[in-house]
Amino acid sequence: MTKTLLILPGDGIGPEVMAEVRKVIDWFNARGQDFEVSEDLVGGCAYDKHGTPLHDDTMARAQEVDAVLLGAVGGPKYDALDFSVKPERGLLRLRKEMDLYANLRPAQCFDALADFSSLKKDVVAGLDIMIIRELTSGVYFGEPRGIINEGNERVGINTQRYTESEIERVARSGFEMARKRSNKLCSMEKANVMESGVLWREVVQKIGDTAYPDVELSHMYADAGAMQLTRWPKQFDVIVTDNLFGDLLSDLAAMLTGSLGMLPSASLGAPMANGRPKALYEPVHGSAPDIAGQGKANPIACILSFAMALRYSFDMGAEADRLEAAINTVLAQGLRTADLIGEEGRAPVSTSEMGDAIVAAL
Ligand code: ATP
Ligand code: MG
Repeated sequence: MTKTLLILPGDGIGPEVMAEVRKVIDWFNARGQDFEVSEDLVGGCAYDKHGTPLHDDTMARAQEVDAVLLGAVGGPKYDALDFSVKPERGLLRLRKEMDLYANLRPAQCFDALADFSSLKKDVVAGLDIMIIRELTSGVYFGEPRGIINEGNERVGINTQRYTESEIERVARSGFEMARKRSNKLCSMEKANVMESGVLWREVVQKIGDTAYPDVELSHMYADAGAMQLTRWPKQFDVIVTDNLFGDLLSDLAAMLTGSLGMLPSASLGAPMANGRPKALYEPVHGSAPDIAGQGKANPIACILSFAMALRYSFDMGAEADRLEAAINTVLAQGLRTADLIGEEGRAPVSTSEMGDAIVAAL
């Protein structure tokens, strides 16, 4: 079956790191895979051409393909633009219209980089956990919201709000992910102080009891979770949590392992007619204007995002393992882009040298 990919390199280092992903895709296609790639604009470059950060035709195409792969959007050139056409709005529109409610953020430590973390080596070596953050609801979207006048002062208001169905669908993402990994799921909220947390815990437990009795489910208050994540992260496998706590916990967990240049992400929605979920894969980092155009960017985050696409859109777990092993190999050989060099002062390789080495290791 043909696998359709829409590639949106975007701005800044986006096109540079995506060029390395294209090499990896070409490698797979040269060995019998059937990835059909189309490329289009998003962000500032789309604004420059069309006057909008995401053209309707691009949006329509994103709805049709099996997976969207995005580089990064934005940059100082666009800072003064009106909010309605800012590059970031292109990405937000994709997430909203594709209804991508489950944001997957792995925290994975490559053996060769275990020394690079700020934590003790035995805490991070071999770490491989997955945080699933609810992405479309909760306190970032709940009504009422705003700044109102009350008596003689102003009040800022946000509302944490979750419906049962919103909790249920992301909980199912968590359980499904646990089944693909080691059958262990930890759900985090603050049921001790928040009503939405009480409902969250109840719904997750009910889904677990009725549909996923084989998955070992635990619950933890999110603040305790933050502490446990830094103390001994390997106690977790899959964590599912709401939008706000997930925002914090996924950044925390991600940085256990090292550089922004190493972190992939996926955002998944409901299954399409062919059974594959609506999906958008992107590195966690932004457009990095400070190093754009210099061949310094680390392409690994973007390449790992493609590995996630292999795993979660195309059921190609063995190929994803192989790609991750190739990355581990080049890191073990000592290849480092500039962001992965600490005190030791070795010479960095360029973006394309790193991409070439990964393809060679494949
Ligand atoms: P955004 O708001 O788009 O998320 P940001 O302000 O969070 O962007 P980034 O663009 O992610 O910032 O960059 C933060 C820092 O990390 C910059 O100094 C940048 O050069 C560095 N950086 C980001 N991505 C990479 C990468 N792939 N390789 C090397 N350095 C990177
Ligand atoms: Mg950022």
